[in-house]
Amino acid sequence: MSTIAYKCPCCASPLAYGAESGKLDCASCSNSFDLESIEAMQIDDTKSGVKFERPTERFDSSDGEQIAAYTCQSCGAELMTEGTTTATECPYCGSHTILPERINAGVKPELVVPFTVTKEKAQDIFNGYFTGKPLLPNIFKDSRNRISEMRRLFVPYWLFDCDAHGSVVYNAEKRRTERRGDWEIEKIDHYIVRRNGSMSFENIPVDGSEKMDNRITESIEPYDLTAAVPFQPAVLAGSMADHADVDAEKCEERATERVENSLADALRSTVTGYTRVNERGRNIFSENGKAKPALLPVWLITTEKAEKTYTFAINGQTGALTCDVPADTKKTLLWGGGVFAGVMGVFAVILAIMDALGGAALLISAIAALIIALITVSVLISQLKQASHQNAAGNYVRKDSFRITARSDHFLYRTTNRRKIENNNK
Ligand SMILES: [Zn+2]
Ligand SMILES: [Zn+2]
Repeated sequence: MSTIAYKCPCCASPLAYGAESGKLDCASCSNSFDLESIEAMQIDDTKSGVKFERPTERFDSSDGEQIAAYTCQSCGAELMTEGTTTATECPYCGSHTILPERINAGVKPELVVPFTVTKEKAQDIFNGYFTGKPLLPNIFKDSRNRISEMRRLFVPYWLFDCDAHGSVVYNAEKRRTERRGDWEIEKIDHYIVRRNGSMSFENIPVDGSEKMDNRITESIEPYDLTAAVPFQPAVLAGSMADHADVDAEKCEERATERVENSLADALRSTVTGYTRVNERGRNIFSENGKAKPALLPVWLITTEKAEKTYTFAINGQTGALTCDVPADTKKTLLWGGGVFAGVMGVFAVILAIMDALGGAALLISAIAALIIALITVSVLISQLKQASHQNAAGNYVRKDSFRITARSDHFLYRTTNRRKIENNNK
């Protein structure tokens, strides 16, 4: 047993093994520690990283007879559809200059989720978007008829599966304050807390199209993958599908991030009973990692307003809508200011009636009015359904797969702070 590498968690001096005490002693601050608790602080990172195996099946010449491939001369999108479907416009930019090509390299999808939202339904969802949203910029209210065709698009995704394992070590504190005479005494008990656990994930989707903003595809999640069918060219009839052109490694980073955040959040939620908890270190690794290429259905609408292109996307299976429409700055300020003034007015009247109109009461009223105004504005902004990233993968955790495999909470040492209480009465 070597103790050379161990440092005192309290003062960082080297620890020495005391033959008599059977503990690790610090000569500098005279704390002593169980070997067990010092070992709980170490993170083993011999196994590290979340990894996924990728499939290698590619399109071949026999697929070429049943699938027609195109490239858009305007935006560069590489597209494909079923052999007898004639493609006339690019689903991304609406350009009509799309030229036939040979089906090439691209990875062949394994699964397809069929459309269940019809064009009429998608149109209704889209039209419904423009009502009851006070912060919608006027350009969307005045010239809605210029919004062009809705396009049926299969977006290429990678679906990631894995069993993730993690060890996370935390510095934790329990604080207590007591009063002794003129002194306030704060006792801080320092603990080292460790959780090891595992969690399995199924079908975390990451979009594999250069042309689609990840915030958009992540905002129309989730898809129900139990409805997926094996890929065959016939399912593309009447739709366009995009090639997976984003480096699978880049997609993997998004999946890894979401896996790590989900497992770390789950482990953190089991650390309870402390005043303060800080993560000290973590090691998360995966087993049985696998990526499957799939096509998922999206209704895509792009519209040009004041020389800018805005994108609306509707999940072709669930009807969830997202877009990149910004909140109108002027309307946001007017709403925020209006609510603030209104609430402030009501408070002032109430205070006047109660005959309690003073500086402190007004300040509290102003803070409350500000909070109410901010909440109102954020509710109104959320109505716009703006696309944003998802940071965890909670929707894709295999049911009941979260397990804690090791749990330890070790007391390390105590520190004490004293503070003289100012006595105003004398
Ligand atoms: Zn020490
Ligand atoms: Zn295009």
